[in-house]
Amino acid sequence: MSYFSKTIFMQFLQCPKLAWNVYNIPNMFTSTDPATKARMAEGKAVEAHARKLFPAVTLIDHSQSFDDIVDQSNDALSYSTIPICNAILSSNGFSDRLLTAETDILVPCDDEYLLYEVKASTRAKPEHIPDIAFQKYVAEKRGLRIRQCFLILLNGKYIRKGEINTRQLFKIGDVTEGVQQYGESSDINAQVENAFEVCNQAKCPETEIGVHCSSDCPLRNTCWREVNKIKHNIFDLYRMPSKKAFGWYKQGITGIEDIPEDYPLTKLQKIQAKSEKTGEIHADRKEIKKFLNQLTYPLYFLDFETFSSAIPLIDNSAPYSVVPFQYSLHIIDEDLSKEPQHHSWIWGTEGEPRSIMLEQLKSLLGNKGNIIAYNALFEQMVLKQAVDLYPKQEKWLNNILKRFEDLLQPFRNFHIYHPAQKGSCSLKAVLPALTGQDYSQLQIQDGEQASRAFMGILNGQIADKQAILENLERYCGQDTMAMLEILRKMRSISA
Ligand code: SF4
Repeated sequence: MSYFSKTIFMQFLQCPKLAWNVYNIPNMFTSTDPATKARMAEGKAVEAHARKLFPAVTLIDHSQSFDDIVDQSNDALSYSTIPICNAILSSNGFSDRLLTAETDILVPCDDEYLLYEVKASTRAKPEHIPDIAFQKYVAEKRGLRIRQCFLILLNGKYIRKGEINTRQLFKIGDVTEGVQQYGESSDINAQVENAFEVCNQAKCPETEIGVHCSSDCPLRNTCWREVNKIKHNIFDLYRMPSKKAFGWYKQGITGIEDIPEDYPLTKLQKIQAKSEKTGEIHADRKEIKKFLNQLTYPLYFLDFETFSSAIPLIDNSAPYSVVPFQYSLHIIDEDLSKEPQHHSWIWGTEGEPRSIMLEQLKSLLGNKGNIIAYNALFEQMVLKQAVDLYPKQEKWLNNILKRFEDLLQPFRNFHIYHPAQKGSCSLKAVLPALTGQDYSQLQIQDGEQASRAFMGILNGQIADKQAILENLERYCGQDTMAMLEILRKMRSISA
């Protein structure tokens, strides 16, 4: 027996090809990607907190087989007078297949129900309405009457002080009207019927790649195979709007070298296209020298790692607050060629991380010399938010902020561009392109991974804490060394 679920319906709205594949070959799409798993676990944690909004609930046990979950849900719907959480609603579809929809919270109300959907988000998103509309549709097809629909979101303004205050952590919006309007204007019945039919046909629909393709689509590598074969393709053009890129793609222009001379490219895209056509690095020596000559020594190369969680993990933080847990600081006194001093810190999960970080940096950053960061706005934002908590440091902060120099700028302005950057100015693209060094030898290779690893420690879910701490140390240290190496390379290019 195949089940046509809410997930398949939502995927169908994005792309029929994706939905057909997930519906017909589900085993191929069981996600093992740690980022997806972490997102799903976070969503479950938010749902569990939201259940506390109700004094007592009937919770459907999802550790059993799917058929048993459906049976248990049906039982609960027949007897429970208190809110039912995680029920799977099922209704006969359009043949012998079942339509199913997992609901977060169904509150019995006379002979009707109030339907609550919980999202681990601080803002309502366009996809939330069709998601709820599908649940309501299946509920009504099953014979339930839905009186009202609600969206439970995280309250971005809630600041944790001590134990989580569940009432304040969430905000609840009545979306009954929006769901009703969506159901009528989009004709949800016809929409579901069409999706159901397409997914049940023998052949996978031919859906072209387009603006609907998300970067994390599980079929991305398959569908984009031909485009990815092209070393310099138009989708890698710097700040190229995808709608425009697909317009060109439909005209048969896929590679950057295929772009006709009279096609409108921005100044920076022209630099990129020329560099990629010739395979040569573009360097505006005058501008690079200008950037290097304005630097005041000592140079402090600074990088923060941060974590951010839906449910605030520490006091004085809100849902998705950016909290620093680590920094790396390399210092060059007066000569780029010399070995730098290195200082680093990882929060040991005791004390207030922002207070510890500020105290340490106050003694390390001295009174003069530039602080170099890559995308300095981020480091500045982390410092500003920390000082919001410790306003006594405001004077220090104001001086520190003036000393920042952003190493991203020469790359964002394309004063240097290497064809291997493929239109990206990120540190992870620039470092290997310019210096041949990269992060491939490290266990932790990007900020998201670092954040997940640290949150594992914070939640007590990591067995080998020492190994993780060492990997974090290496990763963050590599980021600040990368900036120094890039600066050294800029100096040799401009000579
Ligand atoms: S990559 Fe694009 S076309 Fe392919 S399945 Fe995903 S969304 Fe659809």
